[in-house]
Amino acid sequence: MLALLAALALLVPAPQRPDTDGDFLAFAQTPRRPGNLVARTGVVGRSAEGRPIEGRQLGDPKWPGELLVFGCIHGDECGASAIEPTIGGCPDPSADIFIVPDLDPDGSAARSRLNAHGVDLNRNFNAGWRPAGEAGSAEYPGPRPFSEPETRLAARIVHALEPAATIWFHQYRGERPFVRAWGQSVAAGRRFATLARMPFRLIRWPAGTGPNWQNHRFAAPAFVVELPQGRLEPEMRGRLSEALVRMGRWVRED
Ligand SMILES: [Zn+2]
Repeated sequence: MLALLAALALLVPAPQRPDTDGDFLAFAQTPRRPGNLVARTGVVGRSAEGRPIEGRQLGDPKWPGELLVFGCIHGDECGASAIEPTIGGCPDPSADIFIVPDLDPDGSAARSRLNAHGVDLNRNFNAGWRPAGEAGSAEYPGPRPFSEPETRLAARIVHALEPAATIWFHQYRGERPFVRAWGQSVAAGRRFATLARMPFRLIRWPAGTGPNWQNHRFAAPAFVVELPQGRLEPEMRGRLSEALVRMGRWVRED
């Protein structure tokens, strides 16, 4: 099955002009193969330095309620990029999961929290945005909201997919993983915490973050998972993979 999926993924051509409106998700519109399940990958946009930003779709696209996952927005917090939300290596037929493994490929290439312009992408969204510091400082929000190609791409993906729920992965200095959410996203956050066997914390959205923007613009939940730093242990990867699949089933609209 894995080899078949890999072959299918190779058959799907990347869109030719991924940065233009309308066709950046073209790879996700290719026909389904027999058996319904898909695992398809395409380039959905480019970073400030022109690195490709990948999108993956796993599961069965017939379900209208999609789970959107951003594996990494801070380039030095990309442990979750390695998570494959599959069951026994196969996409789940009862969920439709869209993943952006790494929204900050320039930062991850440079092992930096920031993007190539020295901007903290998770302070650059248009919700409570305010100027602070200068390029290269730890939480520099950029010269204006959505000044960066990476955050504009994230917004475009959210608008295009209108996901039933969105999960943003981060890594922090603590040792214990946890789920954090606020307001309308608390129920979904608590649900994921249960599925992933992690504690839940009620925490307000910092200014200019992706979840802050989503929670003010859309009714669907968007929340954060904080993991310890470094590479994820296989046990943690497996646990999160399963929890994502179960979350995908939970948010799907029958
Ligand atoms: Zn972070």
